[in-house]
Amino acid sequence: MRVRHGLMLAAILVVAGMPLVLCDRPIGAGNRPVAAVRQVPMTSAYAVPVLMYHRIDDLSPREERSPLMRDLTVSPAEFEAQVRYLAENGFTFLLASDVERAVREGQPLPERSIAITMDDGYKDNFEKAFPILQKYHACATIFMVTNNFDKPDRLSWGEVLTMRDGGVGYGSHTVTHADLTALPQDRLDYELVESKRVLERGLGSVITDIAYPSGEYNDVVIERARAAGYLAGWKKGGGPVQPGAEAFMLPRVRVRGVTDLADFRKKVWSGYWTMRMNRAAPSV
Ligand SMILES: [Zn+2]
Repeated sequence: MRVRHGLMLAAILVVAGMPLVLCDRPIGAGNRPVAAVRQVPMTSAYAVPVLMYHRIDDLSPREERSPLMRDLTVSPAEFEAQVRYLAENGFTFLLASDVERAVREGQPLPERSIAITMDDGYKDNFEKAFPILQKYHACATIFMVTNNFDKPDRLSWGEVLTMRDGGVGYGSHTVTHADLTALPQDRLDYELVESKRVLERGLGSVITDIAYPSGEYNDVVIERARAAGYLAGWKKGGGPVQPGAEAFMLPRVRVRGVTDLADFRKKVWSGYWTMRMNRAAPSV
């Protein structure tokens, strides 16, 4: 059997005799056969960059003139170069939920780990990003704005389910992409509870993670998210995820339209070198 570096779908990592299954979302009718078993070095001093994307597409001439769209959009060619770089350099692709579970449960993670996340639920995530993820056996997590299902340029339920069967995980990005810190409590609860309910009903699985729209959160948002049944919340910025991180203030590393491969390399290796430094530092 050919074991490919970067192969993540259904990869089993053996930790002290206990199999830890990552990116194991079923294919087709379910129960995808295990594609590979490989041993990778694990660490309890991990530092995992959780990459934050939005659109994966080529810009139209009109979009080219918008600084916001240029910032939000990574071209498919750049995205493929980035995913290929990760695969060729032996990174283990994790879902956001794999990372937050390791933080909450104090479990180790592969030394050279990465997670790809995409916010808002753009249709290009299916049309452009998903074939690239499949090509390199990578997984990713999409944070969905549930009011946007089936809108033009946004994901349909059919696309979401197809990607779920191909290893994509999901989290909530609220119902309307509202600034959660600016809402009265009844609206805040609605954004948190209803988006979770809609995703769980459609996907048939529990949604544990929320990404705060525009990265905006405060103590009330965290308390209500916890009350709604979430186990983790993702913000923007803050570097790689390290052990002991606060589960409702997990950091992400933004990949922008202007991020070139040299910048990208710095972002993805930041975790590995942080981990090496953590491990080298004397314990106190
Ligand atoms: Zn967003």
